Amino acid sequence: MATLAERSRRAVWHPCTQMKRLDDEPPLAIVRADGPWLHDDQGRRYLDAVSSWWVNLFGHNHPAMRAALVAQFERVDHVMLAGLTHEPVVELSERLGALTGLGHAFYGSDGASATEIALKMSAHSWRNLGRPAKCEFVGLAGGYHGETVGALSVTDIALFREAYAPLVRLSAALPSPDARTAAPGDDAKAHAARCAAALEAYLAEHHERTAALIVEPLVQCAAGFAMHDPEYLRRARALCDRFEVHLICDEIAVGFGRTGTLFAHQQAGIRPDFICLSKGLTGGVLPLSAVLTTDPVYASFWDDRASRGFLHSHSYTGNALACRAALTVLELFERDDVLARNAQTAQRLDALLAPLAQHRAVRHARRLGMIWAFDVESDVPGFSGAYHRRALAEGLLLRPIGNTLYFMPPYVLDDAALEQLAGGALRALDAALGS
Ligand SMILES: *Cc1c(COP(=O)(O)O)cnc(C)c1O
Repeated sequence: MATLAERSRRAVWHPCTQMKRLDDEPPLAIVRADGPWLHDDQGRRYLDAVSSWWVNLFGHNHPAMRAALVAQFERVDHVMLAGLTHEPVVELSERLGALTGLGHAFYGSDGASATEIALKMSAHSWRNLGRPAKCEFVGLAGGYHGETVGALSVTDIALFREAYAPLVRLSAALPSPDARTAAPGDDAKAHAARCAAALEAYLAEHHERTAALIVEPLVQCAAGFAMHDPEYLRRARALCDRFEVHLICDEIAVGFGRTGTLFAHQQAGIRPDFICLSKGLTGGVLPLSAVLTTDPVYASFWDDRASRGFLHSHSYTGNALACRAALTVLELFERDDVLARNAQTAQRLDALLAPLAQHRAVRHARRLGMIWAFDVESDVPGFSGAYHRRALAEGLLLRPIGNTLYFMPPYVLDDAALEQLAGGALRALDAALGS
């Protein structure tokens, strides 16, 4: 009998994977997921310390989530959202509006589709306002906003983009305020100001053709957890106002408490023109994304002519089950005072991680909210893969990005899990470095 892993290799094309490599490293076959734990078909369990690609917030198989989804299924599972509506999508839109100060929630299924929606809405809005030349976008070096062809135009990660370069209309990528790259003598805030000056110079020259600036507020996760000072966002907001350019905050990875506040941009005290949400939006149980925007952007589409409307759609737009999952997430944030509890969890894990942070090979140990990152100085070839395997042996699911080791765990780690994470991550590091 073929194992699940063997059948998967034959039948499934796995994401972000050179399939040939699976010959040596078959996928783990997960047969049960519970809380922060993943159980495989060999009877082993792993701590899901990357939240299943940054989506899971409250662990797997959460009782409140299960109950809410079963009850929703019994009422309305899915209906189309053109010409119809339903309670979960209305209530979710109202609540997201109240939480962000934006509104007019438009739904997609994945993060990349949220990026597409925001880019299209921004350019179309300018067009409706009689400024069709404003149809270009600008992002940051190392920015990641998804991998569909439109989203790739603002994703500045060569490995994901190179093969498709002829298909993509590249956007400018401006210096990233990544605090690690500050010049000697500059702190994170001064570095943010310098990078904002580069944005100012760019917009001064190109604002007439620029529809929007898109940024990942506070942490560029896919770039290797590059963190920046909120000063950059404040200055970017002011520059976007001055040059009449939309500011899109891609909160797909950093939203829902990852950075310590419900949304990352809130730490800068700014209001973007668009917010993209996905990943944690449903607590990691169903695909859903949302784009929120301002009244003026919405008003620019309000017209008797259909062509001036936003004629964009996905079949599963506003899926009732996914919206119910998202509402359950918001209820759990309130019910369990999650942000305050996370602040305590983070301090406990900080203390346990001191030996890792001080490890001789570790540079730039950093944390924001519930995101930890450590750059490992090592010339071990394939460090990331080696680390991944050593971590699995410690019962930890961890996937470094290049030489950057990171944790983005679900918010439900008890003391035993925290100790296993900190101890195992350190042992895996020594093992991967061969010491
Ligand atoms: C993951 C991610 C996306 C893309 O989301 P998908 O659901 O994978 O398409 C976009 N932006 C950021 C910041 C992300 O981390």
